[in-house]
Amino acid sequence: MASAGKVWLVGAGPGDPELLTLKAVRVLYEADVVLVDDLVNPAVLGHMKPGARVIHVGKRGGCKSTPQAFIEKLLVAEAKAGNTVVRLKGGDPFVFGRGGEETAALDAAGVHWQVVSGITSGIAAPAAAGIPVTHREAGRGVAFITGHTREGAAVDWEALARSGLTLVIYMGIARCEDIVAGLRRGGLRATLPAAVIQHATLPQQRVIASSLARLPEDIRACGIGSPAILVIGEVADAARMAGQCADESLAGSA
Ligand code: SAH
Repeated sequence: MASAGKVWLVGAGPGDPELLTLKAVRVLYEADVVLVDDLVNPAVLGHMKPGARVIHVGKRGGCKSTPQAFIEKLLVAEAKAGNTVVRLKGGDPFVFGRGGEETAALDAAGVHWQVVSGITSGIAAPAAAGIPVTHREAGRGVAFITGHTREGAAVDWEALARSGLTLVIYMGIARCEDIVAGLRRGGLRATLPAAVIQHATLPQQRVIASSLARLPEDIRACGIGSPAILVIGEVADAARMAGQCADESLAGSA
């Protein structure tokens, strides 16, 4: 029997390669093979030892996504071949990263695994725009929500509107209008501060300071696409306009 390998689920942080943990750097150097998502900054792979393999399993770039079941099979096979495997994901592996599905598959196959937390974009993106997700006066708590759900698994935006929490929404650009409509039905005011942060912590970062009612229009006008985080709540008032939808982007779309 092959010697037992192991899988590390590692968070690569929101984008800036310096926002990597020391532990992530160490296990990247120990890895024989790294399975990497496309939101991960390629600079991070510079921490791998010479000769280690990289397998890209990203879902963008015009390529068809690697099916989740295939990724899970690959993780199991590489570990069972005796390899030290790193599964590298953007942000934190257990926040909207399907990390839980992968660890369940590893458990089912009897493969040992460990997690190395990463800085999630839901905290890092607001921070990079100057927004604290909690504040004693303005935000007593925060909800991390996905704007992209499976068929039939809708988010209850009206209930979230009544929660009084800062709302941090991942993958929310495409469904922004529906989200805003649901939150307005739940009683949130049109002028409630809102912000969008695209490519957070990277040189191309853009921030839009907006309001709940204006959000869809501002996103369109500025041509903001994925990856971006939406922040809705009083704390978004602190959004720094630096790197915002600037003249050049509007001019570019005109
Ligand atoms: N596990 C990741 C989230 C994966 S889901 C994490 O913890 O951050 C992918 C979504 O994350 C994107 O659609 C976007 O909403 C958000 N995201 C990831 N990186 C981002 C970045 N640098 N700037 C803004 N949003 C980002």
